[in-house]
Amino acid sequence: MADDRFHVYDTTLRDGAQQEGLNLTVADKLVVARHLDGLGVGFIEGGWPGANPKDTEFFRRARTELDLKHAQLAAFGATRRAGVKAADDPLVAALRESGAPVVTLVAKSHDRHVELALRTTLEENLAMIRDTVSHLRAEGQRVFLDAEHFFDGFRSNPAYALEVIRTAAEAGADVIALCDTNGGMLPDELAEVVHEAVGTSARVGIHCHDDTGCAVANTLAAVKAGATHVQGCANGYGERSGNANLFTVVANLQLKRGYDLVPRESLAEMTRIAHAITEVTNVTPNSHAPYVGMSAFAHKAGLHASAIKVDPNLYQHIDPAQVGNDMRMLVSDMAGRASVELKGRELGYELTPDHTKALVDRVKDMESQGYTFEAADASFELLLRDTVQGERRRHFEVESWRVIVERTKGGELVSEATVKLHAKGERIVATGEGNGPVNALDKAVRLALEQLYPELAKLELIDYKVRILEGTHGTHAVTRVLITSSDERAEWATVGVAENIIDASWQALEQAVTYGLLRAGRELS
Ligand SMILES: [Zn+2]
Repeated sequence: MADDRFHVYDTTLRDGAQQEGLNLTVADKLVVARHLDGLGVGFIEGGWPGANPKDTEFFRRARTELDLKHAQLAAFGATRRAGVKAADDPLVAALRESGAPVVTLVAKSHDRHVELALRTTLEENLAMIRDTVSHLRAEGQRVFLDAEHFFDGFRSNPAYALEVIRTAAEAGADVIALCDTNGGMLPDELAEVVHEAVGTSARVGIHCHDDTGCAVANTLAAVKAGATHVQGCANGYGERSGNANLFTVVANLQLKRGYDLVPRESLAEMTRIAHAITEVTNVTPNSHAPYVGMSAFAHKAGLHASAIKVDPNLYQHIDPAQVGNDMRMLVSDMAGRASVELKGRELGYELTPDHTKALVDRVKDMESQGYTFEAADASFELLLRDTVQGERRRHFEVESWRVIVERTKGGELVSEATVKLHAKGERIVATGEGNGPVNALDKAVRLALEQLYPELAKLELIDYKVRILEGTHGTHAVTRVLITSSDERAEWATVGVAENIIDASWQALEQAVTYGLLRAGRELS
């Protein structure tokens, strides 16, 4: 577990998931949690069990499916309701039963919010904090407190805001995170307030939103003023303008301020992890993001070209390799020799130097066309097998496919797909109907192959993501499709890229079925 002197606390799965258009399944959340753990964050806030069934499910599955190396899970929730005992409040019970070693309680610290939103007295709010914190502590959980609207509360009634901190600390809360909930603060004033809070002798944390464009600056200012717990979200996700970007915060503190927050080799994975998370969230990565953006170390050549060649350090604020980025940009995540060899080994293949070179060239070429293998392990493994075997072998060959979409008289859209395949010496023609073209193709393929491969009945397409990639240098925009499939035991993802969305989907679908058959033990003959 990470060092307890300074906390890196991620809230992507709770506060970050509030971002407009961002929608994570439980499986997505588990994947994001693994990536964050790979980066080496200390705490991962998984959501609000009890209040949200998906989050209850996340904590349940996390117990058996998440094997965290660095991070501890935190369950988020509110202090007990007014007028009941913490022990009798079902929402508090859900926090207790989440199995999370840490509970982060959100509490009001702004007098007006207590009266208007909570509709209770200032004294009862303090009692709610005291009672809930001490109850959870007595039940064996570590407790952090998010002091909501703290900075506005401090402006409105400083004595009460500080009283909230003292009450929580005395009841046993380990950290009081001061939240700039509406994100309106600027670094100088924020630092003064943090300084006051640090004077209460409670351990102080900071939680910032980016409404003034200062979330990271505010977080750094808070640390300078004595905060030893920073909260933020992967890629700065969050509602409105987002939360403090945890990647930027960590890189700044570690590389510019000398904090030892995550292992150096994990920091060097930061760019890869930031991008892998965007594949799960399906939010287009910000190419100008500090440290991890594709353009973060991209230089326009021109005047500086020769000087950059002689000494790139003259033109960049850090060595991009420290965060796993690249001066030439083009985050070719899989394309490094070492990472391809490593990945091959992970999948159980010993690659010869010739294989590795061929594979690296192929991956680079395909990534330049828009493929991504970071999130499409199954596609990468098929590519790897083709390279090792020296030819492309499949369980079935495609002669042709066709899809028609019809709008009926009643206004209903019906898709019908026909596939012509060759498998085990047979030519098979099958037709499937679906609510969309990809669904129809999927049905047609199964119908065609299920006689020969009954195990396909267990295969299920569970997610389908589309992204339009802008064309570069006169090329057309292309569509990238990522399909996640599952049998009863595992999930895998495949990728297709084409100008035409159905063509891209078909590629991903064909690989999904091939990979599913390999998993079922059908070797390629
Ligand atoms: Zn927040």
